[in-house]
Amino acid sequence: MAERNKHQSLIGMRLEELETYIEELGLEKFRAKQIFKWIYSKNVRDIDNLSDISKDARLKLQADPKALPIGSLNLITHQISKDGTEKFLFETKSGEKVESVLMKFEERDSVSACISSQIGCAVGCPFCATGTLGFKKNLSAAEIIEQVLFMQNISGERIDNIVYMGQGEPLSNYDNVVESIRMLRELVGIGVRHITVSTSGIVPRIDQLAKENLQINLALSLHDPTDEGRDFLVPINKKWPVLEVINSLNRYELITNRRVTIEYVMLEGVNDSFEKAKILGELVRNLHCNINLIPYNQTDVSDPFKRSPNSNIKKFKELLEKTSRNKTVTIRRERGHDINAACGQLANKHQ
Ligand code: SAH
Ligand code: SF4
Repeated sequence: MAERNKHQSLIGMRLEELETYIEELGLEKFRAKQIFKWIYSKNVRDIDNLSDISKDARLKLQADPKALPIGSLNLITHQISKDGTEKFLFETKSGEKVESVLMKFEERDSVSACISSQIGCAVGCPFCATGTLGFKKNLSAAEIIEQVLFMQNISGERIDNIVYMGQGEPLSNYDNVVESIRMLRELVGIGVRHITVSTSGIVPRIDQLAKENLQINLALSLHDPTDEGRDFLVPINKKWPVLEVINSLNRYELITNRRVTIEYVMLEGVNDSFEKAKILGELVRNLHCNINLIPYNQTDVSDPFKRSPNSNIKKFKELLEKTSRNKTVTIRRERGHDINAACGQLANKHQ
């Protein structure tokens, strides 16, 4: 059975694949659409809860020794922060741990999911908890979208915004990430304009992404406007230096007509000087972009990196607005700090 060999779960199958699969188990083809609705619109995870499918048919879906479950992830822990942010730790079938975060923004009436694309990450940014783990594995498209469905199932919330800002470098797992974006759009019903991919700057993949016609938001983790500084903070810069990555954003913008976001984590004494604010402002002056300053989240007590003081971040922002000629510069609001769910804190201590 081809479908069984290719998949670990019903989540991730295309409708035609699910049709073939259930027909081979002795169910009528039209049931696939019903099952789809249960999985993607009602977040059902248990075959016994497919209540408009007869008991006999449900048994067929479970009895075959090679029958697949609806999802392949297991929930290990679920924590809720004082600010309502929820952190989930999942386990894949092969035993690796995956972290995902759900954030509620009441003022915007929006629920956002921060999802992981890899176990660990090969880029190795020295300030990032995931980076210090090294690369372990790519997640499949199914494992990526299942994080969203599972969080909806547990929290009872409807997610309408997705950021690929959990663990991993999404563009190093390009095919699965693009497939997962298509599935989020077509199966889960998330508007592509509400999906953001954050990258450390894999230039050939940024060029490839521009041609996918996806209309998603792209964010670049720049973190330093000089090659000397960025070689250290985002080591992939040695391969694709600052100017090359900025040029790729220019091409991206030209092809997609989408404004990109520049992310800049504020590290005291490392990249937060006013000189750097000026260089950064001039660097992005001709790029159609917003800039998001991220207050650094310390990963543990021995962390050599420190957060830039708020007064400094404010001054940096003002200088940047001036030198970039009025680009929109925002300061990211922190979420879920008390449960280590904030940006860059997904450490997989359990790995
Ligand atoms: N690998 C991708 C996406 C995941 S990280 C990327 O690097 O863009 C999402 C963002 O969080 C990146 O901008 C990353 O640099 C930032 N980040 C990592 N560790 C952080 C920390 N401890 N505090 C604040 N931001 C952090
Ligand atoms: Fe990887 Fe992003 Fe962390 Fe860098 S910041 S190590 S690219 S996850």
